[in-house]
Amino acid sequence: MYDELMWRAGAECQTDNAVYFYAPSHFERKPEKDLREGIARSLCRKCKVKEQCLNYSIAVEESHGIWGGLNELERKRLLRSMRAQSA
Ligand code: SF4
Repeated sequence: MYDELMWRAGAECQTDNAVYFYAPSHFERKPEKDLREGIARSLCRKCKVKEQCLNYSIAVEESHGIWGGLNELERKRLLRSMRAQSA
């Protein structure tokens, strides 16, 4: 079982930056989404817990937000690929 709090303590997104990791409650146009996700990804690239974060999000099949530098669709593709390889 993952202890979420342990690895998240060193995360880049545990500050005011958190707003970049999830879609806003209002409709988000593609250019806005690309910009927001780009900022989140740049934070993920320098995050010390990126690997743990991505592994966790895959393990729990997290369906929202940027985790480990990947958005929802990218994680779904990765999970599909992992399942196909292990079949
Ligand atoms: S990899 Fe990105 S989403 Fe994951 S903890 Fe780090 S900054 Fe947050």
